[in-house]
Amino acid sequence: MRRERNVKIVATLGPASSSYDVIRALHEAGADVFRLNMSHGTHDEIASRHRIIRQVEEDLDSPIAILADLQGPKLRVGEFAEGAHDLADGASFRLDLDAAPGDARRVQLPHPEIFAALSPGATLLVNDGKIRLKVANCGDDFADCEVIAGGTISDRKGVNVPDAVLPLAALSEKDRADLEFVCGLGVDWLALSFVQRAADVREARDLAAGRAAILSKIEKPAAVASFDDILEASDGIMVARGDLGVELPVQAVPPIQKRLVRRCRAAAKPVIVATQMLESMIESPMPTRAEVSDVATAIYEGADAVMLSAESAAGNYPVEAVETMDKVAAEVETDPNYTQIIASSRTAKGDSVADAIVAAAREIAEKTDIKAICCYTQSGTTALLTARERPGVPIIALTSLRGTARRLCLSWGCNCVMADEMDRFKTAVINATRAARSGGFASGTDQIVITAGVPYNVPGTTNILRVAPCDERLIYRTDPD
Ligand code: PGA
Ligand code: MN
Repeated sequence: MRRERNVKIVATLGPASSSYDVIRALHEAGADVFRLNMSHGTHDEIASRHRIIRQVEEDLDSPIAILADLQGPKLRVGEFAEGAHDLADGASFRLDLDAAPGDARRVQLPHPEIFAALSPGATLLVNDGKIRLKVANCGDDFADCEVIAGGTISDRKGVNVPDAVLPLAALSEKDRADLEFVCGLGVDWLALSFVQRAADVREARDLAAGRAAILSKIEKPAAVASFDDILEASDGIMVARGDLGVELPVQAVPPIQKRLVRRCRAAAKPVIVATQMLESMIESPMPTRAEVSDVATAIYEGADAVMLSAESAAGNYPVEAVETMDKVAAEVETDPNYTQIIASSRTAKGDSVADAIVAAAREIAEKTDIKAICCYTQSGTTALLTARERPGVPIIALTSLRGTARRLCLSWGCNCVMADEMDRFKTAVINATRAARSGGFASGTDQIVITAGVPYNVPGTTNILRVAPCDERLIYRTDPD
């Protein structure tokens, strides 16, 4: 589906967006990628949403990426005899392995590996960081803490341990079962929560065994610290500002967001900026000015995608939230300042033939009146390199592989089109012409740039650049030459 913008929109599905009509309306309004959040919902609900997305994709003949977000090793306290307790500032509170119901002085934390990783002075955060505990004394099965910032603690509240790299498996039993389940359904991206190190990503990649691309959520200080290695091991990144802002001071999040977005672009890997982007639209049809500014900032920074969480999954205005992002994006991308910011943050390119070809394609498009850059791509790499250039004309990514078309839906500017395998270069010209004309990118005697590789249909061989008239007659011609 043709968009009037290059940045992509990821919409999380949930109770507010489970029907065919809403999911189709979200896609028509601008959602390019749908996120299935494995922290919520039954497998039946996930399978039903998955089926509907694929139906919409077929009905509109428009590739859609599905991203399954695994819950990851989320830590939680046990339960309380009375459900909840208020912890006062300065009080003492103990966490231990005892399964007995908690009270005002203690509760279970059923994770021996955490006690092993703690030392006096470490911080523990409970309930999205609202309660802050400092470890005074600890052993193999307990931690005596001082309450630094009090609040209400209740059954199964989440716990964050920002200071330590925890010896936790990257994927819990639930994650492994969820991974098999969603890979069985067929998803394009797997998002990993609470990644701590590159080895976590490699473990998931082994389990996925090529069935989905791997996206790492950066939401722990340890992940920020070893970001370069994690990026190298991943196919994409999410700046998961929700948990990141709990584990680090909130004011640390904006500079990290800027840095991560730049590094991802330099690596030609898609990056999503996520969480609380239009939070007030859960309840209100109008966003706050600050939220609009936040979405705009992520786009000016050059993010590949912006994301809706509860706004589209559980809010009252899911479609309006997508429309808002779409309008903000269209406005930002027509600002001459945007073009200038994006151009000036273009990083040094690699020295491969493919790097040189995509750079040349952009230059030709910018210096002459070219309407689109059409790249034939198998693995998707050439499209990713073209997207890194952030050209001023639309990118049409042509591929014979449905999985590649879907995965590229997350990447900046990629208009993904299914095309036959290339048997000769003429096929590429015909298919590119057809895609450019039928997508409304070119008409009349407009010219397009086509990039492709010989030998045909082999990943990583981009070595041809051709400027061609987008000749209507070509579409009907079948004679070889
Ligand atoms: P979540 O991840 O919504 O799965 O928690 C995003 C975030 O933490 O920002
Ligand atoms: Mn998170």
